[in-house]
Amino acid sequence: MADSSPILPGATIGILGSGQLGRMLAIAARTLGYHVHVYSPDPDSPAGQVADLEIVAAYEDLDRVRAFARDVDVVTFEFENVPSTTSRAAAEVALVRPDGNVLHITQQRLREKSFLREHGFPVTPFRAIHSLNDLHLAVAELGLPGILKTASFGYDGKGQQTLRSPNDIPAAFDRLRGAEGIYEAFVDFEKEVSVVAARTVDGSFQAFPVFENAHHHHILDVTFAPAAISPALAASAESIARGILDKLNVVGLLTVEMFVTRDGRIVVNELAPRTHNSGHLTLDACVTSQFEQQVRAICGLPLGSTRLRSPAAMANLLGDVWFDAGGTPAWSAALTDPEVRLHLYGKAEPRRARKMGHLTVPAPTVAEAIQRARHARQLLSLPGGTPSPTHPA
Ligand code: AMP
Repeated sequence: MADSSPILPGATIGILGSGQLGRMLAIAARTLGYHVHVYSPDPDSPAGQVADLEIVAAYEDLDRVRAFARDVDVVTFEFENVPSTTSRAAAEVALVRPDGNVLHITQQRLREKSFLREHGFPVTPFRAIHSLNDLHLAVAELGLPGILKTASFGYDGKGQQTLRSPNDIPAAFDRLRGAEGIYEAFVDFEKEVSVVAARTVDGSFQAFPVFENAHHHHILDVTFAPAAISPALAASAESIARGILDKLNVVGLLTVEMFVTRDGRIVVNELAPRTHNSGHLTLDACVTSQFEQQVRAICGLPLGSTRLRSPAAMANLLGDVWFDAGGTPAWSAALTDPEVRLHLYGKAEPRRARKMGHLTVPAPTVAEAIQRARHARQLLSLPGGTPSPTHPA
């Protein structure tokens, strides 16, 4: 279904997926006066807690998916691993934005990288891996070190292995356990950045300032803005993002994760057809948040200003914080800095490496914002009680 008339406040937005991205999207949508229905595989989900309605059903239950879609004015998704059969079923009865083709390309690394290469966007050389022989050939052609990833369902470094010597090849291949793989030439990067951008059905486009991202054990740890890169490089990152959204004909929001190489080039690593962890600081530091922008984009409203009001840093709060604190994190200690903004996702059980929330600090300089965000997070781990939920169970 295609329609260019705006979907106005008062209408209902349906979200496939129910994690923290869906939660913050739902809050932004409700602020703008929309109703929100969430389709969730689990009850009491982060997004379901703040939605008007939470439908608890499997993504594979296509009758439930169609019924869900019939009741809303537009369907979007909050993560790309929603099966494409699910988004196709929704599209039979409702407007789905971004459309299923965007989901299809971005949920599989080989398709994604092939699309990027085909259209002249900079990506690291890569090869498809279906057999041990493919991997031997790929290593011979692209060299070592290199990274072997599963082609599907990878995020936060899951399903990813670094190969440093030819001796690593057999064991790495075995760990794919028959799944399709992709071998990528190693990018000797100086930093990682991301561009979160939105595009509407009439082709209007807005990108947020480039974010710079520091990872810890492959999971995003701290993001800050503006990124410490030259204006020319920032312009180039934005123009690559714009090209990608245009070529994919995105209606909605899409994030481009990029490497900045030591010789000053940009290489695209990954696309996410949605809001992104690195964009969370927009909630407190930009005129329009990434979540409000997503609502505006899928509903055909004018896009909001992406201007950064001040430098800012965001620090992720993983479940580890609860364990390091020996129980309840010391919320009051972290909030003694009155500029610290706390966001918790309503997840009942803190687990190691699980994203539970984040802190944002706007400050006069990026360096100060990073220092205060890290400091506030450290204060959380002051000794507390026993591990406890972030909201009553
Ligand atoms: P991904 O799951 O593709 O987002 O990768 C997770 C992290 O692994 C990235 O943020 C990088 O730090 C690292 N990484 C992924 N691909 C490469 C590559 N081709 N070369 C170097 N580092 C990489």
